[in-house]
Amino acid sequence: MILPDEAATKRVGEILARAIQPGTTIALIGDLGAGKTTLVTGLVGALGGTASSPTFSLVNEYPTRRFVVWHIDLYRLEREAELVELGLDDMIENRLGICVIEWADKFDVLPADHLRLELVHEGDTRRLTATGTGPRGELLASTLEGELLGSES
Ligand code: ADP
Ligand code: MG
Repeated sequence: MILPDEAATKRVGEILARAIQPGTTIALIGDLGAGKTTLVTGLVGALGGTASSPTFSLVNEYPTRRFVVWHIDLYRLEREAELVELGLDDMIENRLGICVIEWADKFDVLPADHLRLELVHEGDTRRLTATGTGPRGELLASTLEGELLGSES
């Protein structure tokens, strides 16, 4: 579906914030400037936290009202072995928080159950494709689709 502006991208994060359960992983796929961090800002903001861009830190940890959010950006990660130092597996397996991973397709990091969000530039707007794999991922994808279609007129 088309996200016409930045507010629409944030709103996707806000919708997900209402439906997401701890222990969930979201993969964010898309070029530089596609809106991945914008979406995380909407998600974390709606949970009562404050997100920043982790491009230089690889991992940011945000406390929120409901659970911790680990915001991971693999853009600058060069070797798959560094994932071990990051402790990514522990974050993904942790049932008390959620993981949101920018450039998640760069390495083979995703758990079986996840929501994949792909953002593609389309003129001045963005096209979002949501694909759920596994029970949590599928539920989030259908919730998102329902909410976004319901708001179209
Ligand atoms: P990424 O993390 O994918 O590199 P960012 O979220 O940092 O991208 O930046 C995306 C840029 O595009 C920001 O300037 C943001 O305001 C803008 N943007 C986000 N979503 C949309 C949208 N749906 N339509 C137009 N511009 C958008
Ligand atoms: Mg980013």
